[in-house]
Amino acid sequence: LEAHFSVIEKEAGAQNGLIAVLHDVTEQERIEEERREFVANVSHELRTPLTSMKSYLEALADGAINDSEVAPRFIHVTQTETERMIRLVNDLLQLSKMDSKDYSMNVVEINLPQFMDQIIERFEMATKNESISFKRRLTVNTDIIVFGDRDKLTQLLDNILSNAVKYSPEGGTILCSLKIAKDNVIVSIKDEGVGIPKENIPYVFDRFYRVDKARSRNLGGTGLGLAIAKEIVHAHGGSIWVSSDWGRGTTISFSLPFDEAVNVND
Ligand code: ADP
Repeated sequence: LEAHFSVIEKEAGAQNGLIAVLHDVTEQERIEEERREFVANVSHELRTPLTSMKSYLEALADGAINDSEVAPRFIHVTQTETERMIRLVNDLLQLSKMDSKDYSMNVVEINLPQFMDQIIERFEMATKNESISFKRRLTVNTDIIVFGDRDKLTQLLDNILSNAVKYSPEGGTILCSLKIAKDNVIVSIKDEGVGIPKENIPYVFDRFYRVDKARSRNLGGTGLGLAIAKEIVHAHGGSIWVSSDWGRGTTISFSLPFDEAVNVND
């Protein structure tokens, strides 16, 4: 806390009062510190793949390019690193857009069960070879209409579902459910994966936070997926939370205010 004192003088020499202006410098310092940390994180996240690409390219230039066995492998590594950098830059752009004041949303009516079903189907196709199965509990008889931005909500579900897939074991099941609680609809994605230790849970929505850095990197993570998810949910007037048992699985849930539930059979 920073205090500025000014003495108020009625007439020269005669003290009449004292004004104290208190500035919350701790808040300013915290924001500044967060910004510094963010820039350091971004630099580090970009330097890691760049350094790795540089050494693979050097090895190729030094002759590995003529080794028909090694060359394709080295080129593949540089491709993977490039893809990860593109993902990272895309995630950063998305976050910076959401941080800016002129952030606009293209809000339309969305029938949530149907919308989710399409996204889950896309994941089922993409993970066909990974022996992961998806279960749905989407109250299929009911239309649940929310007002939201289709692209943003797609991204939200993509981020949560891709984590569920990434951290699931072979043969794992991912349960996608949807229920109504008062004026909110609650979506939950439950996996049977590695889980998150209790002490790490409060931080998983922080930018660049990862429980296991090496594992996340190997799986192609940027550490920004849940931070973006949180921004999207907040922009829709909802909230997002996690419950997890270390070693047994994780459930990510979010709520969205909803307009109406119409029973299709009525
Ligand atoms: P990442 O790109 O590393 O997956 P996220 O922001 O999406 O970053 O998630 C942050 C961290 O939260 C992850 O690194 C991981 O440690 C943990 N996490 C997220 N989802 C799950 C999940 N379904 N199961 C286990 N851990 C998870």
